Amino acid sequence: MPRKILVTSALPYANGAIHLGHLVEYIQTDIWVRFQKMQPKDKVADCWYVCADDTHGTPIMLRAEQDGVTPEALIERAHGEHARDFAGFHVAFDNFHTTHSPETQEYCNLIHARLKENGLIEKRGIEQYYDPVKQLFLPDRFIKGECPKCGAKDQYGDNCESCGAAYTPNELKNPYSAISGARPELRHSDHYFFKLSGDRCQRFLRRWTRLPGRLQPEAANKMQEWLGAEGENKLTDWDISRDAPYFGFEIPDAPGKYFYVWVDAPIGYMGSFKNLCGKRGIDFDEYFRSDTQTEMYHFIGKDILYFHALFWPAMLEHAGLRTPSGIFAHGFLTVDGVKMSKSRGTFITAESYLKTGLDPEWLRYYYAAKLNSSMEDIDLNLEDFVARVNADLVGKYVNIASRCAGFIGKKFGGRLAASEAEWQKPLREASARIAEAYEQREFGRALREIMALADTANVFVNDRKPWELAKRAGQEAELHAACSQAIEAFRLLTLYLKPVLPKVAEAVESFLGIAPLSWDDTAAALPAGHAIDAYSHLMTRIDPRLIATLIEANKESLSPAAEEPAAKNGEKHEEKQEERTAAAPVRAEAALIDIGEFMKVELKVARIVDAGLVEGAEKLLRLSLDIGEEKPRQVFAGIKSAYDPARLIGRLTVMVANLAPRKMRFGVSEGMILAASDATGATPGIFLLAPDAGALPGMRVK
Ligand SMILES: [Zn+2]
Repeated sequence: MPRKILVTSALPYANGAIHLGHLVEYIQTDIWVRFQKMQPKDKVADCWYVCADDTHGTPIMLRAEQDGVTPEALIERAHGEHARDFAGFHVAFDNFHTTHSPETQEYCNLIHARLKENGLIEKRGIEQYYDPVKQLFLPDRFIKGECPKCGAKDQYGDNCESCGAAYTPNELKNPYSAISGARPELRHSDHYFFKLSGDRCQRFLRRWTRLPGRLQPEAANKMQEWLGAEGENKLTDWDISRDAPYFGFEIPDAPGKYFYVWVDAPIGYMGSFKNLCGKRGIDFDEYFRSDTQTEMYHFIGKDILYFHALFWPAMLEHAGLRTPSGIFAHGFLTVDGVKMSKSRGTFITAESYLKTGLDPEWLRYYYAAKLNSSMEDIDLNLEDFVARVNADLVGKYVNIASRCAGFIGKKFGGRLAASEAEWQKPLREASARIAEAYEQREFGRALREIMALADTANVFVNDRKPWELAKRAGQEAELHAACSQAIEAFRLLTLYLKPVLPKVAEAVESFLGIAPLSWDDTAAALPAGHAIDAYSHLMTRIDPRLIATLIEANKESLSPAAEEPAAKNGEKHEEKQEERTAAAPVRAEAALIDIGEFMKVELKVARIVDAGLVEGAEKLLRLSLDIGEEKPRQVFAGIKSAYDPARLIGRLTVMVANLAPRKMRFGVSEGMILAASDATGATPGIFLLAPDAGALPGMRVK
């Protein structure tokens, strides 16, 4: 029976921009889906790729409030930006929907009702911290205080980043609300729990997580750790409700109670697919009934494994629906060996990459070359990126066509001679091995094999030397044969690279005058007499200066304090410790310095004598700062989102006066002003420092 496959990527959270870290997953999934879509219909009848924006939860609600818009307006804006960025990188969803949709709500209610019928939902009273100023119950992430074990200040409500201790928010000393700063009160509230720790879920999950193909070996091991040994009960029931005010779906028959965002996020996969089914006439139930023959795969980051490998299959199973065929987790992205960082300029947004003029297929190729089926982190080494793309794609692949196609046009009226040859045999025979590598998500292995085949083709071209044959009279037939055979080899290589380089493949299909390549097109070579178009450039080399520009363009942050959490989905993580590693990956190391080191930093009171917008800069303001010197200093500060320049004029603040001047796109910045921000993003905003009344410009701060 031909396969019918439904594929998803994790849902991006609707309060931030898509960055290169996110793109690892979308590019990985897109390559896999494009490979499936190239298969003949008798092998893969359908492969649908759906995604959606994840739109609910406290962070969205607070962010909308901060921006002075409704949550609906906020998520609509994010949806537009996300759709634009995905299209820019040729990520071709069949549907990109939103969890704030009637379809998602319908399945939320359905699954909840069935779990309830099955006796798996229970109402329980809990004590939870409440912010009396902001008037809302605080998720663990929004409560801070002193670690009960080591006393470290400003720790999250569930674990200490200083000593690593885990605890409940109620154990924190001197707790405060990360939103208002107020001291939270413990209040009673009724919550709804999914009974994950009960026998039925336990038994099911022990069996399901060990079924072949469901989880990668390292993920299956992790699940065994979470489940504990046979007879041990390590799972706890899952709190699936949140109290108003909350941006989400209200739970039926429970006024003022909402589904926790992590309930409706995976159900968003169903919602998006249902929406697609409506548009395309697909039978939704064929894919979701419990005895389905179809396949469903979720591509995710390893940080959200817990939700996808435990909660999600348990919910589906006990709601009488199909469970996932497989969950494919990948690792995180590092840039030049370290976590993405705003101060280093390596927190690179999808938008800035494209705006800089970098080709999205360069990144697709580089990620593919690094990707395999494991959960290992992958590194974007910028020097290696330039070297590898230039060597492989331009030096090896495109080079074959660019050295041979011209002669076909000039000397043979654009028509090929017989193009099949014995030396191409390895290129044809590799088809099954390359297909297997794509299927197994061993993209790096697939590309190594393809590049080895490109080497074979280049050896052939180097041997025949068409450019020399062209100069000799009487060698026309040899020249025609050599170029035609090389073009056929180029066609085969294009077919193998098509999942990774869809736009280049499209250009090649048009240049060769052929129908869109599918996987079984390896069999028949281009026939003698086949007409091709004139060759035009398919891909250029990466100019390393573009990389420098990209890094500079992403360095617009104020200071390391303005770092945002880098990992995907980190923003909505509220509960589990596993998530925390992802939620706050960009944290200044708390290394100790001595007073001498501190005194090297010359901090001075500064008066803002002028402030204005910077044309072409999204985040910057241009400030003129009087620090008692002959003429004011010019400083670019990333505070545009928080301050109206007119209202800054005349204010006192604090600046770093001995920072080496830095040349930016907009001019030289001669220092830095100081401001506070919450590195977790829990409390959005930028807060400029100000001295007490009486301080004068130029005074030293120490
Ligand atoms: Zn501690």
